[in-house]
Amino acid sequence: MTRRPGRRSLGRLGILAAAAVLAAAVVPAAAVAAPPTPAACDARTNDNVKKLLECVTLAGVREHQAALQAIADANNGTRVSGSPGYDASAAYAAQVFADAGYAVTVQEFQFQTFIVLSPSILEQVAPPPAGPVANSILSYSGSGDVTASVSTVSDIRGCNAADFAGFPAGNIALISRGSCTFAIKATNAYNAGASGVVIYNNQAGVLNGTLGNGFTLDIPVTSVTQAVGQQLAATPGLVMRLKTDTFRGIATTSNVLAETPGGDPDNVVMVGAHLDSVNAGPGINDNGSGSAAILEAAQQMGKVKPRNKVRFALWGAEESSLVGSTFYVNGLSPEEGARIALYLNFDMIGSPNHVFFIYDGDDSDAVGAGPGPAGSAEIEDVFEAYYTSVGRPFKGTDFSGRSDYGPFIAAGIPSGGLFTGAEGVKTAEEAALWGGTAGIAYDPCYHQACDTYANNNDDALDVNADGVAYATLQFAQNTSAVNGVKGKGNFKPGPVPPAPADPEHDPVTE
Ligand SMILES: [Zn+2]
Repeated sequence: MTRRPGRRSLGRLGILAAAAVLAAAVVPAAAVAAPPTPAACDARTNDNVKKLLECVTLAGVREHQAALQAIADANNGTRVSGSPGYDASAAYAAQVFADAGYAVTVQEFQFQTFIVLSPSILEQVAPPPAGPVANSILSYSGSGDVTASVSTVSDIRGCNAADFAGFPAGNIALISRGSCTFAIKATNAYNAGASGVVIYNNQAGVLNGTLGNGFTLDIPVTSVTQAVGQQLAATPGLVMRLKTDTFRGIATTSNVLAETPGGDPDNVVMVGAHLDSVNAGPGINDNGSGSAAILEAAQQMGKVKPRNKVRFALWGAEESSLVGSTFYVNGLSPEEGARIALYLNFDMIGSPNHVFFIYDGDDSDAVGAGPGPAGSAEIEDVFEAYYTSVGRPFKGTDFSGRSDYGPFIAAGIPSGGLFTGAEGVKTAEEAALWGGTAGIAYDPCYHQACDTYANNNDDALDVNADGVAYATLQFAQNTSAVNGVKGKGNFKPGPVPPAPADPEHDPVTE
């Protein structure tokens, strides 16, 4: 074996140069260019997709989610519409939009609701060991703070007044779920002089129950699991404390609307997400994720002068059956409605066990709900083009009526958007496609206290925040695929139907 001449003469510089050549061979030069700094992004006009997507960052989206988490932390752990946590969220969003140069309108409205003002407390006082007992307050429970002996009733379901014969007035009633509504059980207990009601489930799992918005009796009502209830029923000499602190009635909340000062006012691109959480938690995936992505996209588009007017909308009271978006759509005059080219919706786009779903505008999957209004298929195309451009698999998901696109579709406005999954369970096929864990929910913290800043998939949120920006900028400049170069939407004036009942998602009444 002969030594090639000159090889030994490669000194340190030569080795470095050779390494650089190797590196250049495997990494394209453009990929190693440093991304623009936040200050550079603030200073420049992100008027094409490449520039915009460089500046829409995961860190930027997470900052807004952190702000929403801090608001929840300061307000009883919730941002539910009608509560101070929602109002603070709306004020924060309005400020972000205004600082980015948009014209902001806060649209207030009133709605019938139930708000948990502080977490319900159920504690075993005697016999030892004393301590807290996990419980889920029933919607439309009254308020109270009682410490009393706990009594069962002759028929454990408590559906008849006679079941309460001899009930010791002032005691807390312990009743099983089954055979009649929770409202009937609680009313019978109240009439028998009970100071509070604990209902235990008659099947596995936590009870998500409601007494119904017609329930106005002044008595605290909460629930426990079947196992806990049976154990309590078998405990002699049981004394418990039950404390609930609630609001029932008409509350005021708001939608936050922010639009570009310029752009064609006769061809408005609307981009929306609900800002409210449920009572049970801070709602940082549902729907801090969509809200934060919109705030980030709006900030990074702040210097763009789009051809069409862009109107961002953060909705209130979505969790009370799409109240805010329905109020908005019903308030549009025929002329205003006809100016809206399309609506994009982003509700849960960073689920921890995510999928990449696009609302099925053309009903190509041919299951469930039919297609969206004409133009919806072309919106779906844009999201498909985005996922294709970043090499991510995607699937269609039904317009199930479970988010704020509902009233827009009902009014004939073409709609689309993204969704990474809620309480649905991931299949093995989906896990093979997107990773994650089959057999558990896309978001195991859906509508719970654990939907916090930690309840997130960074990669999914990063990809989808860019998808929000991509579609928003695309339609801000050109809606021709959806409604023709200068066409209008298909707006149908008149009130939209109320949101459909959602048996999987709504609290149960019995
Ligand atoms: Zn939601």
